[in-house]
Amino acid sequence: MTSPFFLSVAIAAPIPKLFDYLPLAETDMSHYQAGLRVSVPFGSRVLTGVIVSIHQNPQYDPAKLKPISELLDATPLLPNDVYKLGHWLSEYYHQPIGECLSLLWPVLLRKGEQARASKQTFYAPTPNQPDASTIKRAPRQVDLLEHMKQPNQQTGQWQKDLVKAGFTPTIINGLVDKGFLEKQERDSFQPIKGECSHTPLTLNQEQQQALTCIEQNQGFKSFLIDGITGSGKTEIYLQAIAPHLQRGKQVLILVPEIGLTPQTVQRFAQRFDADVLLLHSKLNDRERLDAWLMASKHGLNAGRGQIVIGTRSAIFTPMPNLAMIIIDEEHDQSFKQQDGVRYHGRDVAVVRAKTLDIPIILGSATPSLECLHNGLSGKYQYLRLTQRAGSASMPELQILNIKKQAVHHGLADSLLKPIQDTLDKGQQVLVFVNRRGYAPTLYCPDCAWIAECRRCDAKMTLHQKPAHLHCHHCDSKLSIPRQCPECLSHKIQAMGAGTERLETHLQYQFRNTPVIRIDRDSTQNKHAMEELLEPVHKGEPCIIVGTQMLAKGHHFPKVTLVIMINVDSGFFSADYRAMEKTAQLILQVAGRAGREKDKGVAVIQTEFADHPMLHLLKEESFHALSLALLDERKHQHLPPYGFQVLLRADCHQPKEAEMFLHRVRQLLNQHQQGLNLPQVSMIGPLPAPMELRAGRFRSQLWISAHQRKVLHYFIGMVLKDIYEVKGFHKVRWGLDIDPVDNI
Ligand code: ADP
Ligand code: ZN
Ligand code: ZN
Repeated sequence: MTSPFFLSVAIAAPIPKLFDYLPLAETDMSHYQAGLRVSVPFGSRVLTGVIVSIHQNPQYDPAKLKPISELLDATPLLPNDVYKLGHWLSEYYHQPIGECLSLLWPVLLRKGEQARASKQTFYAPTPNQPDASTIKRAPRQVDLLEHMKQPNQQTGQWQKDLVKAGFTPTIINGLVDKGFLEKQERDSFQPIKGECSHTPLTLNQEQQQALTCIEQNQGFKSFLIDGITGSGKTEIYLQAIAPHLQRGKQVLILVPEIGLTPQTVQRFAQRFDADVLLLHSKLNDRERLDAWLMASKHGLNAGRGQIVIGTRSAIFTPMPNLAMIIIDEEHDQSFKQQDGVRYHGRDVAVVRAKTLDIPIILGSATPSLECLHNGLSGKYQYLRLTQRAGSASMPELQILNIKKQAVHHGLADSLLKPIQDTLDKGQQVLVFVNRRGYAPTLYCPDCAWIAECRRCDAKMTLHQKPAHLHCHHCDSKLSIPRQCPECLSHKIQAMGAGTERLETHLQYQFRNTPVIRIDRDSTQNKHAMEELLEPVHKGEPCIIVGTQMLAKGHHFPKVTLVIMINVDSGFFSADYRAMEKTAQLILQVAGRAGREKDKGVAVIQTEFADHPMLHLLKEESFHALSLALLDERKHQHLPPYGFQVLLRADCHQPKEAEMFLHRVRQLLNQHQQGLNLPQVSMIGPLPAPMELRAGRFRSQLWISAHQRKVLHYFIGMVLKDIYEVKGFHKVRWGLDIDPVDNI
């Protein structure tokens, strides 16, 4: 007997279609609905999928269909807006629906686990405490009772913490048996409880205007706050979300990968009587699921507002009472997913806000040209903050031409005196260099040999702590050769400077001053960054040497001198976005200086002191530079005035990826003629800027059009044929819609 109905299931596989399954025996239609997870046999494996529809017309012979293995949920776990977002992702990014829907779930749910929060044992004092004399002959029980009375622990303690404090289960159970303590099972994931200890600041005029605009709005609208570092954007976010939290609603705040610092979190927690949930990459799978469930179960009855602060993927958090979305540092590259479904968290957020008919605030000191364009054209409400809030003023930008300078270990000698002067004033110095390791190059002066990675078109970085050669692209490590492998010369040496080298040099020059290095190597452990930064926060004179990790979210009131080394390497990149990114970086870093009453100086040490863009940035502003860049883009029909899709392919065999793209290009040419779409232009296949990476040869094909609609129509029409290109089963390929880099 054939089934009266069939389940169409989305499975996370790189195949752009749905799969039909039979329902379980002895179930009927009422057991199923779209959005429920199921586990299904798929080839030799059992995978988790999502029911997308229930229907009566299977695509294949129903006799050959298999039943699902298990129905995992009784009700859909995703609210409708998130589920819809998954479908939007698939459509807009032209990615398989199964992969897009699977993005929406925390890892454990993708693996088919139950949607249950983890519990842990908790002991709370009973409301009516028995007479203490009943335990006077059990001194350890008396100790425990005392321990529980410490001021901040009156509501009780986790079993694991009591055990850590030296109390055995026997002691604890003793108090339970006698009625002093009550054993409970509580959710092990607890939100950060807001303290409501800080009151709102009185806004300045610009801030007030911006806030009024936001407050007067109802329903969906995108606001772009273009405000220099320290102009009080965060204060506006805080005041903008306040009324929503008071009504017990939820707000979602997206921050860049490295912007989620304890300082950021504290500012939100200190302001509101609300729960704060963090969703970041350092959570383990269990914690992530617990936090996810907590957000998804938010009820209005509790009356408590809830703030979810997270990085890119937090945009998919189910939040039934979501009232506002904020994206801080909107321009940040970490909002763009760089593999699989290459979505842009910012753009997804705008779509989600639109679906929910709620406002979204995008903030940046250096807005992306895309958002600025939307702001200037009126698509977004454009709000500008031009002054630093409070008493601080913007640091002065200075350009130091190192072509005319003596430079040692990467640093111009002439900067040693300003560093000393700053330290003498009891202030701090930040030296920014966006390269970790000792030196970017190890080379032989006798034969010009350079240590290169065998698996990438890239140089190996020389590290000294510990000593080795390291490829930052594929993670290959090698020991440092004692002599040149080509000519056996013993003179091989480091060229250029990274964080380690500057740290060593500065520590040698300023022997009695702490020099603190902050980069990915020095901050691998969970709390390393905060520990390293302790002297900085204490306000002692010190020198911080660090990479981009420092450029965001940190507040260093005592830093008044910022030195930027090698930021200008982006000026001559083949990437048309390089200038925009470089200018953003310069301002982000410069913005670390002079955030309080002492005026700051930011020195750009450069070989290209005459570069016109650098002068525009120094003499005018980032805004002026952005307008100039927008003008250039307009003439060249580049984003935001044109739209692009990048088709990337790679293979560990040379030429294969390129040949695949040649084949694709032929198909696309045919389609283009057939569809009569001369507006679409194509370039490639071209080798990727780094052609060989991690042992794979990489090739690219660019497809673009002046209108987004035309481009997406074209991609939609050709996609099926690309999937069906035969003979290249070793080639990996992927579409990048609205690419932000070409690496
Ligand atoms: P941004 O997010 O734009 O970098 P913040 O909101 O962090 O700016 O503000 C920078 C500093 O100025 C913070 O120390 C903040 O407390 C302070 N600040 C912000 N708004 C005001 C205001 N209206 N009056 C006084 N100080 C303010
Ligand atoms: Zn040599
Ligand atoms: Zn490599």
